[in-house]
Amino acid sequence: MVHKFKVNTLARSEMADITREVQGVVRENGLEGGVCHIFVPHTTCGLGINENADPDVKRDIIAKLDDAVSEDFDYRHAEGNSPAHIKSVLVGPSLTVFVEEGGLQLGTWQGIYLCEYDGPRTREVWVKLVKA
Ligand code: ZN
Repeated sequence: MVHKFKVNTLARSEMADITREVQGVVRENGLEGGVCHIFVPHTTCGLGINENADPDVKRDIIAKLDDAVSEDFDYRHAEGNSPAHIKSVLVGPSLTVFVEEGGLQLGTWQGIYLCEYDGPRTREVWVKLVKA
């Protein structure tokens, strides 16, 4: 079974913290130990794990990705959002996090982020729990 929840992103580029929502799926489904696979069925956003303390880290990641994948290029994709597609493929659509004693095994400074590059939009996050 795939568990799904929605995330409303608020900006063109954003790192939306979804750690609590993912942990909620783990808890509601009673997984004590195993792996939690997280996936986004989209082509202009991604998933990442990164610092949950200093918001400037998110700002720096977004700014440097904007710098690396500039808007100023002879893109052919007629929808006009090629930079978002490129950032999506760089960041990737999925993550795996271990679960022990009902809790996501993240480092102290780690959070799980939906990385939006073509917002604001409503995004879906799919979660598959595997007991192990
Ligand atoms: Zn497109």
